[in-house]
Amino acid sequence: MTVTDSAKASLSSNVSLLKAKASKFSIYGALIAASAIVLATLLVSYQQSGEYALSAFIRAQRENPVLWLLDALPFIFGFWGQYATAIMAYEAGALIVDQTSELRAQATTLENQASYHTTHDGLTDLPNRVLFSDRAQQALASALRDTYPVAILMLGLHDFKEINTTLGHYTGDRLLKHVAARLMSVVRSSDTVARLGGDEFGILLPRIGNPQDGVTLGQKLIRALEMPFELDGLSIGIQASIGIALHPQHGSDADTLLQRAHVAMNAARKNNCGVMNYEEKLDQHSPQRLTLMGELRQAISRDELMLHFQPKVDIHRGCLTGVEALVRWHHRQHGLIGPDEFIPLAERTGLIKPLTQWVLNQALRQHRRWLRQGMDIGIAVNLSAQSLLDQDLPDMLAGMLASHEVPHRKLTLEITESSMMQDPQRTMEILYRLNKMGLHLSIDDFGTGYSSLAYLSKLPVGEIKIDKSFVMSMAQNENNAMIVRTTIDLAHNLQLKVIAEGVEDEDTLLLLREMGCDCIQGYHIARPMAAEKVAGWLHDGDWPLPAAASDGARVYPFGQA
Ligand code: C2E
Ligand code: CA
Ligand code: CA
Repeated sequence: MTVTDSAKASLSSNVSLLKAKASKFSIYGALIAASAIVLATLLVSYQQSGEYALSAFIRAQRENPVLWLLDALPFIFGFWGQYATAIMAYEAGALIVDQTSELRAQATTLENQASYHTTHDGLTDLPNRVLFSDRAQQALASALRDTYPVAILMLGLHDFKEINTTLGHYTGDRLLKHVAARLMSVVRSSDTVARLGGDEFGILLPRIGNPQDGVTLGQKLIRALEMPFELDGLSIGIQASIGIALHPQHGSDADTLLQRAHVAMNAARKNNCGVMNYEEKLDQHSPQRLTLMGELRQAISRDELMLHFQPKVDIHRGCLTGVEALVRWHHRQHGLIGPDEFIPLAERTGLIKPLTQWVLNQALRQHRRWLRQGMDIGIAVNLSAQSLLDQDLPDMLAGMLASHEVPHRKLTLEITESSMMQDPQRTMEILYRLNKMGLHLSIDDFGTGYSSLAYLSKLPVGEIKIDKSFVMSMAQNENNAMIVRTTIDLAHNLQLKVIAEGVEDEDTLLLLREMGCDCIQGYHIARPMAAEKVAGWLHDGDWPLPAAASDGARVYPFGQA
């Protein structure tokens, strides 16, 4: 039954109901009128004959024209009443139908709005994960029938959390809208761009000619985001990584393809290569990782972890200024596992606290050992974001330094700028306590976050470490060289020392020296090495320790080969 049919049916039933009620009242009216006629006739007959008799009653009726008029009234009023109520009934019914259909229309609009909200992202108006999966499933069903490839791209923005923390969520939200608009401007109308959550977008290409098409579009999307976004007079640069999973090679259901596109995206981010297709080898660590998580706790207690040390050198005095302790895991089955594999794992599982304690203990013990061998080598240790939020950290450090009898000034803590942004207020308090204790603080991976140098200079840090992504390519990339030069100048104006990490060749070293950079670290000087190799390296390279170098005894070692 259509809406109009049901409205008609309800109208006629309402009208019948009203009519039935109206008839009832007409009958009452007619009865009252009839009673009035009888009463009036009785009165008239009594006036005429002085008695109440049927013959007198009939005579009064026959001879009195006023009573005739009275007799007609019930019929006139009955008919008129019936007619008027019938009309009113129809009008009321029509009114009800109008209002009902208006309510129905409103209910439909509300229903549509509700379904829009469950399938769309409120901020960008793009389809959300639900609709994206639905469309992907449909595309895959058609692709199965007609056998052609489908591509699912997953795009993740880098360091979006820091943008939110530094510039505020309002700016972050507006930036996301702009990003959405740029993505939409690149794809075809038959493709779907969806916001899958936070800073992740999904792009569905329901029909591609060949597997390479996904990569080509991915590169276009990355290029579209390259130009900085102008918001409130700020120019915000943003980077993205894209992972691609294809049907039929990588899966035939939407969930699997999405998960694999995600794996590829993480790999693209890690390798800093923009766009990457899914490959099985990228994923094979996943089950292994789960096992690793369980094994990491034991590894800490069983001393399966070890520290390697990478020298940092003063670029002008040509001496060693200290070493950075970098943790490794010597796994019984998998061999040497790098920190990038298990530190994030430790951070997620709460194991980072015992791990950091282990690293600090070993590093300080090593300092003592070297000291006994006549080498006074300062040590730097990396701290995770979570350690910086740990109120016990300063006391724990003080206890360790005391038990290993290491002067506080011999320890540098390397902290990334992004880790400081997680809870700036709490971090700041801890940093002040650490600084008061006489420890050195260094901002690691500088340039990869969004904090300004002016902000950093308010923190009690003495040094910034320019991230290797700028340094490694600065000899070939003018843009990066300029970033490094400006950073060095600004940092010096703010009385901060500058160290460049990732120095891989002599050209870079010379460029950094010309720019006035204070210290360097990188494969060109030395790779991270086991503790027992440090003495040999110092000896072979004829590297003096800072105390000896300050005598001026050192012959400048760089650029003379
Ligand atoms: P990071 O603090 O930025 O450490 C520098 C990383 O760059 C080290 O990788 C080092 O081996 C590498 N590197 C040094 N010179 C060069 C170079 O010239 N070229 C290139 N391409 N790379 C160079 P590694 O040891 O794999 O450490 C990776 C990251 O793991 C570290 O980055 C640090 O964030 C984290 N990490 C390492 N040890 C610890 C630790 O004990 N605790 C915490 N929380 N994090 C750690
Ligand atoms: Ca570091
Ligand atoms: Ca670094």
